[in-house]
Amino acid sequence: MKIKFCGAAQTVTGSQHLLVINVKKILLDCGMFQGKREEAFKINRHFLFEPKDLHCVILSHAHIDHAGNLPVLFAKGFEGSIYCTSATRDLCSIMLQDSAFIQEKDTEFVNKRRAKRNEPLFNPLYTIEDARAVLEDFKSFPYDKKFYVDGFDNKVAVTFIEAGHILGSSQVLLEIEEDGKKIALGFTGDLGRYHLPILKDPGFLGNVDVLLTESTYGGRLHKNAELIESELETAIKEALEAGGKIIVPSFSVGRSQELIYALTELQNAKKIPPFPIFVDSPLTVNATDIFKLHPECFDTETITYLANGVNIFGLDNVKYVKDVTESKKLNEFKGTCMIISASGMCEAGRILHHLANNIQNSKNMIMIIGYMAENTLGKRIVDAKDNPGTKIKIFGDEYKVNAKIRILNAFSGHADQNELVTYLNKFDKTILKKLFLVHGEPEGQKLLEEKLIENGFKNIFIPKRGDVYQI
Ligand SMILES: [Zn+2]
Repeated sequence: MKIKFCGAAQTVTGSQHLLVINVKKILLDCGMFQGKREEAFKINRHFLFEPKDLHCVILSHAHIDHAGNLPVLFAKGFEGSIYCTSATRDLCSIMLQDSAFIQEKDTEFVNKRRAKRNEPLFNPLYTIEDARAVLEDFKSFPYDKKFYVDGFDNKVAVTFIEAGHILGSSQVLLEIEEDGKKIALGFTGDLGRYHLPILKDPGFLGNVDVLLTESTYGGRLHKNAELIESELETAIKEALEAGGKIIVPSFSVGRSQELIYALTELQNAKKIPPFPIFVDSPLTVNATDIFKLHPECFDTETITYLANGVNIFGLDNVKYVKDVTESKKLNEFKGTCMIISASGMCEAGRILHHLANNIQNSKNMIMIIGYMAENTLGKRIVDAKDNPGTKIKIFGDEYKVNAKIRILNAFSGHADQNELVTYLNKFDKTILKKLFLVHGEPEGQKLLEEKLIENGFKNIFIPKRGDVYQI
């Protein structure tokens, strides 16, 4: 068999890995490439394989950089099934439509400018209808239960194993028989962390011959996830003392629910007083409803809370806001409150209004709990941390960053270097013949590679997009 790396190869976006077994093709993840508009347009519309020839897709999780290009695959003639866990399927049902909405809005914006310059207009990458159509072809399976992929004569078995990254996230174990030879291939997807709120900890794939591992934080160390609450407590006490508002840009799926969970725990332990908290993002509200449907993904602590009647998705002082008028009313709210809103990197959505309204007041705090990529407004805010008065642009207008910027490092959905090495050390190195590092930037991947060599790993590869390896 062969593997062709078609995305998330020496980068952290657009996860797509093609397995060629005899003549049949299976795609692991169908992620959208996110980056500069023109480059993204090109990469997302042109697959490194013929979509019609693809037999099926196996999804590790619902994040857009792992599942977001499925509607394009269908539009280009793919007719097979998409295998994933049921929580991933449910999250995809809202996230793909949300992504389509963003594509449509973005194209509208670009076309306005192109029309003025008499340039040909663009079509959106996909529409909400395209996103809905894809959902009919999902087939969901529980964790830890082996199943056979249709059409391979019981020669390709798949097992989903908990990845502890977001709701429904899984590592994928493939047991493949080709021309009488058996190969076990593992794909970590995005690997989560121990002690993250709500979710179960990552499981172990079991020994494999070939492993594709993520390497997002291959060169970095995080604070222990157990420190989430103490970091949060310190920041909230500081904000309450200043009497201002706390604005939190947050990803709708996962991070927002983890934050609410941590706030609930702090409040229950009387470490912080109850104060008004608003979750102002329709996608977050919908995602939270899906969380409630999937207790099979929860850790024992969360299950115990729920059994004891504790609502971990919101105490009485947490209000979920869907309606636009209600969202606008938050501008007039007097006194201390927390506003959690999307998008996570401050590139779009209601968070922009809240930043514009609050960032110039030195009593307020902007609390950063997620990764901010280069060239995003979120990153510019992070960079202004030690330089109050730095000017930034929101909706084309200039604003001074006078609010305090607090960065909470313990929140992270990805394993760091130590956690990755600890996890990988579980594999028997005499069985593991090839180890591929994917979903990472070259600098971090190199550092991880060095650590892995120190730990006795051999045959480590850092593939580029388009590279093909014979297994
Ligand atoms: Zn992810």
